[in-house]
Amino acid sequence: MDDALRRLKIARSGMTIAIDGPAGSGKSTISKALARRLGIGYLDTGAMYRALTWFALDRGIDLDDEAAVRAAADAMPLEMHADPDAPVYRVDGIDVTRAIREPRIALAIPKVSTNLSVRRWMAVEQRRRMMEARERGSGMIAEGRDITTVVCPDADVRVLLLADEEERLRRRTIELHGRATPELMEAVREQITKRDEADSTVSQFLTPAEGVEVVDSTGLGIDGVTQAVLALVDQDLEARAGR
Ligand code: C5P
Repeated sequence: MDDALRRLKIARSGMTIAIDGPAGSGKSTISKALARRLGIGYLDTGAMYRALTWFALDRGIDLDDEAAVRAAADAMPLEMHADPDAPVYRVDGIDVTRAIREPRIALAIPKVSTNLSVRRWMAVEQRRRMMEARERGSGMIAEGRDITTVVCPDADVRVLLLADEEERLRRRTIELHGRATPELMEAVREQITKRDEADSTVSQFLTPAEGVEVVDSTGLGIDGVTQAVLALVDQDLEARAGR
């Protein structure tokens, strides 16, 4: 199937795609590429956790105060422009697109992402965005840790993206430092391991839930992974045509 035909079919009935995976598995790159090709929206759920962390820190909220952080989620005036080529995030009119990628946010995030009441808020908000896009006759690809399991277990296509640990480490190091020397990789290793450990206490993203397809991106490259997910998209579109 070519992209034009895929877009036509999606325009008829909408599509939701859920992609989960650990840090450095390539979720963002693949999700953006697919959103572009399929003409659907792109939702980076990690950016929502990052934006809330930024907002809570900006307001001087104690991140250990779970109720206060949950209240901050309700109060947060978050604007997301889910353009896969240039996503923009604004909180209260302030462009936080770059600020939410700073290491101070990554360090503070586990306190927010392990707050179960925040997770419930996130799941409702994220699901609403996905369903609205589907109902508008296009759709959305959402990437995160719990999209295939909690946010949208009924997504049309559900993928768990995995990659060998060293490969994930190399990718994250290049993303953060522009190159991957053994010294830089060691420094990043600790950050990634800590974050994966904290994340895995609240969501299961290293083994697939029932019905979730595993795609291992190790050695596949962006094109290879994109093709693997597109094959699943085609399968879903063809199955719908047969119903
Ligand atoms: O994907 P990204 O690295 O930007 O995510 C930042 C953090 O947000 C993750 O380490 C995790 O703690 C949290 N997160 C989450 N559930 C999601 C997406 C992100 O807990 N669905």
